[in-house]
Amino acid sequence: MSSYDYDLFVIGGGSGGVRSARVAASLGKKVGIAEEYRYGGTCVIRGCVPKKLFVYASQYHEHFEDAAGYGWTVGESKFDWKKLIEAKDKEIARLEGLYRKGLDNAKADIFDTRAELIDANTIRLVKTGKTVTADKIVIAVGGSPNHHSALPGYELCISSNEAFHLEELPKSILIAGGGYIAVEFANIFHGLGVDVTLIYRGAEILSRFDQDMRRGLHEAMEQKGIRVLCHDVIEEVTKTEAGLRARTMKGEMLDVGVVMLALGRDPNTKNLGLEAAGVKTDGRGAIVVDDYSRSSVPNIYALGDVTDRVQLTPVAIHEAMCFIETVYKNNPTKPDHDLIATAVFSQPEIGTVGLSEEDAGKRFKELEVYRAEFRPMKATLSGRKEKTIMKLIVNAEDRKVVGAHILGHDAGEMAQILGITLKAGCTKDDFDRTMAVHPTAAEELVTMYSPSYRVIDGQRV
Ligand code: NDP
Repeated sequence: MSSYDYDLFVIGGGSGGVRSARVAASLGKKVGIAEEYRYGGTCVIRGCVPKKLFVYASQYHEHFEDAAGYGWTVGESKFDWKKLIEAKDKEIARLEGLYRKGLDNAKADIFDTRAELIDANTIRLVKTGKTVTADKIVIAVGGSPNHHSALPGYELCISSNEAFHLEELPKSILIAGGGYIAVEFANIFHGLGVDVTLIYRGAEILSRFDQDMRRGLHEAMEQKGIRVLCHDVIEEVTKTEAGLRARTMKGEMLDVGVVMLALGRDPNTKNLGLEAAGVKTDGRGAIVVDDYSRSSVPNIYALGDVTDRVQLTPVAIHEAMCFIETVYKNNPTKPDHDLIATAVFSQPEIGTVGLSEEDAGKRFKELEVYRAEFRPMKATLSGRKEKTIMKLIVNAEDRKVVGAHILGHDAGEMAQILGITLKAGCTKDDFDRTMAVHPTAAEELVTMYSPSYRVIDGQRV
């Protein structure tokens, strides 16, 4: 019999925390879990899920427009922001209920409170002041938007958290950042009829992606009417009678209804009692872990965004499952962070797995690059000006596909399947001997027979 109240206590009820708590409890461990806000965490409550619902909502205006080319006459359409928020909140509440139910069914003790460490085995439940002890502790408290408090007027700006609960849809918005969140919300707000400006400090949005995807999306966004300002940053935000005014480094004065900062996310490790317990963090405040997600304190593990490895929901869930294998199944398992397929839910979407052409060029002596750019079939009758880009990056030496990138409809769905092929180590010859599914856009992935160009020692030839 353990001398602790719990075999496992989990701090944080998001993707990684709930998964580790639920599975450990279902293995018969005595588990407690505490969450200070809402179960489901960033992904379910104010991230991936509500964002994707917003993406769907924002696509309708193009659907209505496109319908005419296919013979439909669509009556006057009107969008009601409050109705969308209400429907979204209802769905999020349903999902939160499912997360709680899963924990409850597995017989985990659920606490609705912030929890902090007192020492390596003791946790204080802030709401009641009560302390509990645990043999093992998982910290999975996630991250939160960087509020960029050095920016004069930052307190007038919103983050993605508030974007999910705006009282009213603004007429115009300025979004700072060039990452996933900035780009996705720029497309969402544009689709809902808002006048959108995106401001990004670098030369091109989405810095870690393949250049063709970045450029292609940038052009598509501008074609739709989103203003994209690169090599510029906001230097000050002030209040005006009508809304807000942002002054940029290049001296532009942008008058908008809302300014949203999407400049990265920070680990939620402040005042968590990490020092008292001896848990080390890095310069950004992320918990430092070894290959098995173990912190500097042997019985304390950390999972998901709080470790700042790869900030993605499926990664946190995978890390949780590896923790379970390692700690409760006597099967030490390292999380595998290689070849993670991912999508940016912009319009058009980006779906990607593996290396960009630029990164592959640094790693391999010679590359074959297969590239197709075409107008998707759906756009023929609708007359919409849009293009799909597909790219396969192949290491010439062993013919392995080391990167696959798509800009276009359903790119996220395709990236999931491509992820399997890259994980399996498929070669270009495997792609070539795969029969096409016709007529689809995806068939292009198996019908690009000769390289569009080669890259030798990092140079296109
Ligand atoms: P990202 O890291 O994707 O982007 C942050 C952006 O802010 C970058 O463009 C960065 O520029 C810029 N930036 C950072 N600091 C400054 C600064 N001081 N001044 C000006 N610009 C700055 O973070 P997000 O907040 O967009 O998203 C957080 C994480 O959430 C992502 O990394 C992703 O893993 C996850 N996410 C995933 C989604 C998905 O899977 N579809 C959707 C949304 C989020 P630079 O590039 O030059 O560094």
